[in-house]
Amino acid sequence: MADILYTYQNQVYANITNKCDCSCVFCIRSHKDAIGEADNLWHKNDPSLEEIKKAMDEFDFTEYDELVYCGYGEPTCALQTLLESAAYAKEKYGMKIRLNTNGLANLYHGRDVIPELAQVIDSVSISLNAPTPERYLAVTRPSFDDAFEAMLAFAAKLKETIGQVQFSVVDVLSEEEVAASKKLAEEMGIALRVRKYS
Ligand code: SF4
Repeated sequence: MADILYTYQNQVYANITNKCDCSCVFCIRSHKDAIGEADNLWHKNDPSLEEIKKAMDEFDFTEYDELVYCGYGEPTCALQTLLESAAYAKEKYGMKIRLNTNGLANLYHGRDVIPELAQVIDSVSISLNAPTPERYLAVTRPSFDDAFEAMLAFAAKLKETIGQVQFSVVDVLSEEEVAASKKLAEEMGIALRVRKYS
């Protein structure tokens, strides 16, 4: 069975789905089967809520105060298990919850899911990926033509609702594109993290 919880650089992560509505050019899934201490992050079938809870019950959270939803897929594609397992981790283990996401959940689900996320998520990192719609579509290769605009709207609303929001880009972008991404993030009042491509 694939790893549901795994650790990497002193963080614990939840890998709850392999579904994703993007095909990013830098996605680690295309060249490795696992990261960090995980053996394999490819599920035969996405884990059920009960399987995620069991993985949590078998994990020693003593050294951790935050659980990050980020695995080999987009966590919000498994919205119900994300919400219910995050609530379980908060209530039973006192974990803060961070979500790493592509920011397309409202498009994917065809409704505003932010009120539901806000009930269990403490902070969010959104993949900005590029500073313009053209480059975003080229880098992220999403299932939706209006994904860039929807992702920005999602980020703005999430910032109003949850507060703790940051953008990320991967350093596969040119210096000019990273600078333009910083400018866009600043204009939205959201911090930007530049991640190393690995
Ligand atoms: S959104 Fe994340 S999981 Fe999906 S293709 Fe992009 S990097 Fe990979």
